[in-house]
Amino acid sequence: MRALVSPALALALTLGVSVAALSSAPALAAPENYATIRMKTDTAFLSAEERKVVNLLIQAADQMTAIYDKQAVAQGGADGPGHGFYPPGMTKAEFETYLAAHPDQKTALMAAYTVVRREGDKLVAVPYSVAYKPELTKAAALLDEAAKVTTNASLKRFLTLRAQSFRSNDYFQSEMAWMDLEGTPIEVAIGPYETYTDEMIGQKAAFEAFVTLKNPTESQALDKYKAYLRDMEANLPVADSYKNFKRGGASPIAVAEQIRGGGDNLHGPQTVAFNLPNDERVREAKGAKKVILSNVLAAKYEGILSPIASRVLVADQAALVSQKYMTLETLFHELSHSLGPGSITVAGRATTVSAELKDIAGTAEEAKADVMGAWNILFMMEKNEIPAAERPQLFATYTAGIFRAARWGDEEAHGRGAALQYGYLKSKGAFVFDPVAKRYRIDDAKMAAGIRDLVADIVKLQGDGDYAGMVAFFDRYAHLDDDARGVIATLKDIPVDITPVYPAKV
Ligand SMILES: [Zn+2]
Repeated sequence: MRALVSPALALALTLGVSVAALSSAPALAAPENYATIRMKTDTAFLSAEERKVVNLLIQAADQMTAIYDKQAVAQGGADGPGHGFYPPGMTKAEFETYLAAHPDQKTALMAAYTVVRREGDKLVAVPYSVAYKPELTKAAALLDEAAKVTTNASLKRFLTLRAQSFRSNDYFQSEMAWMDLEGTPIEVAIGPYETYTDEMIGQKAAFEAFVTLKNPTESQALDKYKAYLRDMEANLPVADSYKNFKRGGASPIAVAEQIRGGGDNLHGPQTVAFNLPNDERVREAKGAKKVILSNVLAAKYEGILSPIASRVLVADQAALVSQKYMTLETLFHELSHSLGPGSITVAGRATTVSAELKDIAGTAEEAKADVMGAWNILFMMEKNEIPAAERPQLFATYTAGIFRAARWGDEEAHGRGAALQYGYLKSKGAFVFDPVAKRYRIDDAKMAAGIRDLVADIVKLQGDGDYAGMVAFFDRYAHLDDDARGVIATLKDIPVDITPVYPAKV
């Protein structure tokens, strides 16, 4: 039987890789280092057939990296916010002016799976299947080959349809098939997904791949929580008018070890979970799959969260920080994105939270998912699904996690949501700085009340679509005081994130 988290992680900490570009808070020490970690994964349980499939998928994942390298950097010109998705040197203003003058081309030019190119003085939308034809042809051939090898019907169907998507540029059917994968340890996401790389208008999807192996025992242990989503919505500490019972669909939950990354996810902070697909039509029909990457999470726990804990919390509480609660918080963070206001009505007008909250929407939503995740774990303790006696472990792990994220600084989006939680909860007495120990002590009762109040305040501002109110809320609370800055200054030698190195073949 495989353990939840592989103990076979070779922690080869190679410090000193500069990521100065990611830091922006002048008063704080800049996070400076990533730890390079050679990921060892347990593949002994794979059959010969499964091993063959996985090695073909690793090669296909590498094609996603080849495409991403073209997407992330403008070709033959100065790089800008449009990177490789738009013509070199094109500004957002120029693009918007062109769209306004050519409304009939707007849909194609703004589509998630096209790149924008110049043709004389015109702009044209080139489908990914054309723009990246050499790489996608290779990737499709590898998926077809893997589909021939596997005897698992659901995997065969997904791989076949995804190969077709690479050729046709239509991903709907293969996204639907991806939600139906079952009866195989091979859990692979491969294709164009997230749109963060497009800093021009955030519409173009970047290619990436997660080749992972599912742990059936651990997946089953967490899968039970999805049945509580409706109860969690009902349990939100707000008036019923703020609750949202319209979302449907199953949300499969898997715990898996990542054995290869590709493209987008190889860059910057490593994700410990993914929640896909992003296509709203698929989400409405089938929900979204949440995959926790247990070995990536373990590496970040051992290399980052655990050492942070002993510098942030008094010794008896630092000892309570655990990988189990980091895993649960990760899962309930993802589940919480499916809870609370989404489509809303403001002054009789149908709109969405993200449209109303504009530039602060993403930061607010991430802070919401963090604190609502803790709130929902407390709810599962009430339901006896998680031992209530472990509440101190939850609070210690949650607090250490706030400091992990707060290191990015309260001027930066990652860090600002953490700073909000810090400032708000400290104002409620959830933790108190001990000037002698130079560490924080958590007050469990006040922490529980603070979590409830913070969930309520954020959800109400979201549900009201109150942009000015949300900005004022962040202005009031999202600050790191001298105590926090002092503690964060002691964390300089602890890596801010990891750079995983995966084997080329299993
Ligand atoms: Zn999130």
